[in-house]
Amino acid sequence: MDENVKKITIAQLKRTAEALRKNNMAAYVCNDSSEAVGIVKGLLCEGATIGSGGSMSLVDSGVMELLKSGNYNFIDRTQYSPENISECYAKMYTADYYFCSSNAVTENGELYNVDGNSNRISAICFGPKKVIMVVGCNKIVRNLDDAVKRVKSVAAPANCVRLGCNTYCKETGVCMGIDGCMTDGCKGDTICCNYLISAKQRHKDRINVILVAEHLGY
Ligand code: SF4
Repeated sequence: MDENVKKITIAQLKRTAEALRKNNMAAYVCNDSSEAVGIVKGLLCEGATIGSGGSMSLVDSGVMELLKSGNYNFIDRTQYSPENISECYAKMYTADYYFCSSNAVTENGELYNVDGNSNRISAICFGPKKVIMVVGCNKIVRNLDDAVKRVKSVAAPANCVRLGCNTYCKETGVCMGIDGCMTDGCKGDTICCNYLISAKQRHKDRINVILVAEHLGY
């Protein structure tokens, strides 16, 4: 990243981190993924039970590699068949840590996430003792309106391509409901079923957001 762009990106991440802290979430700002991996190492203790969402940000940042290093009791969703994946999700609700990213983070300190299966957004709300999110600067938006647009024009279409979902956005790159209301969209193979806004938290620092000045995931 160009050094000038890096400077304004870090300033934006710092503003966002401050807003997240006001909403009772712990927030960290990193120059790059290696710093993010270092922060994650510092937060975890050996042998901790860890669950995760299917996040490209965790893979891109190298955090997933750390989680699978053998130092932790990692619940690996890739080892479960479609028939018994519910058993895996149930184990994650009692985990010490749950890792994922966020579809968008607003500069006002809100997290915005949309799920089809909804195991991820349910774990963000309740269950695991701590939630740790790794979020690239590409996911920072000004407000919730921009968060909705981001999911409809970037996150959901790219995830539909990744997951092979038969949806309008997979073919066109944008949601059929981009100009409608928040929940407008396809009704078939949709991955947009439940819409979660995480604002001020009752349990201080249960949610930890690691903001990275790199593009991670989508
Ligand atoms: S509602 Fe359907 S078309 Fe719209 S973003 Fe979600 S999956 Fe894609």
